[in-house]
Parts: sequence; structure tokens; C-alpha cells
Amino acid sequence: MTDDCIFCKIIDGEIPSHKIYEDENIIAILDANPVSKGHTLVIPKKHVETIHEAGGMNFLHEGLVNVSNALEKAFNPDGINIAQNNGEKAGQEVFHLHFHVTPIYEGNELDVTYNRGDLEEAEKTVEEIKQKL
Ligand code: 5GP
Ligand code: ZN
Repeated sequence: MTDDCIFCKIIDGEIPSHKIYEDENIIAILDANPVSKGHTLVIPKKHVETIHEAGGMNFLHEGLVNVSNALEKAFNPDGINIAQNNGEKAGQEVFHLHFHVTPIYEGNELDVTYNRGDLEEAEKTVEEIKQKL
């Protein structure tokens, strides 16, 4: 529990939420301002801010698959988007790690636009990443 963290307070039961699932490692709750029906947040109970501190949290993957399967069966959406923001510039607003599982329905497709370029210096880029793995 970290003071002033809204998700820690939800995990602790101090703030109410619409809970879909809970076990010793994670909770899954409805997003308070959903993009679509069923928009769910999968959240580790341990307070970490970003993906960089999530080594070993393999249970997150299982939670994401289980929630995605439940959303698929419950609402038969046209697709499901999974997103996770790290850092303010990447759109992170709550600094307790969480994954968005968002059902996509016709007419409510995600509108995410990046400026894309051509792949340049691929071999150099691969090496720069590989050295840090
Ligand atoms: P972020 O931008 O950090 O990836 O996403 C934060 C998400 O948390 C937003 O989608 C926002 O609607 C959701 N959120 C913020 N406060 C609360 C809350 O008190 N309860 C719930 N259920 N969701 C919240
Ligand atoms: Zn927290």
C-alpha cells in the first residue's frame, strides 16, 4: 500500500470499485471512464509504477488472457485491444502499473495515430536493444 495511490486504495478496499476478479496477485476492475462496454483494468496488487519493475510478475499474463477470454464470451466484441502506458508522455495517468483490456465494437474502433517512418539502421537498432537484454 502506497499513500495517495488510487489503485492501492482500491486494492485495500478503501475506495469502491466494480471488481471482476481477485486473487493473491492481481485484481481486475472495470475502468471508471470506459472506452467501451467491458473496459477492464488488470492490476498487480504490489505497488509498482511501470513495466520496468514488473520482472517476475508472470501472473499478469494469465490475468490478461483470462479477462480477454471472459470479455470475448460475455460480449462477443469485434476485437480486443490490450494497452499499457508507461510514463506521462506515453499517456500514463495513474502511476500504479495496470493493463487496459478494451473490447472493440463496430463503430467504436480505437483511433490511435502515430507518425510512422521507414525502418532505418535496423541492424544497429537491433544490436543496441540486444546488448541490453
Ligand atoms: P492510464 O492513463 O494511467 O493508463 O489509465 C488510467 C485509467 O484509470 C483511466 O482509464 C481511468 O479512467 C482509470 N481510473 C482512474 N481513476 C479510477 C478509479 O478511481 N477507479 C477506476 N475503476 N478507474 C480509474
Ligand atoms: Zn499503488
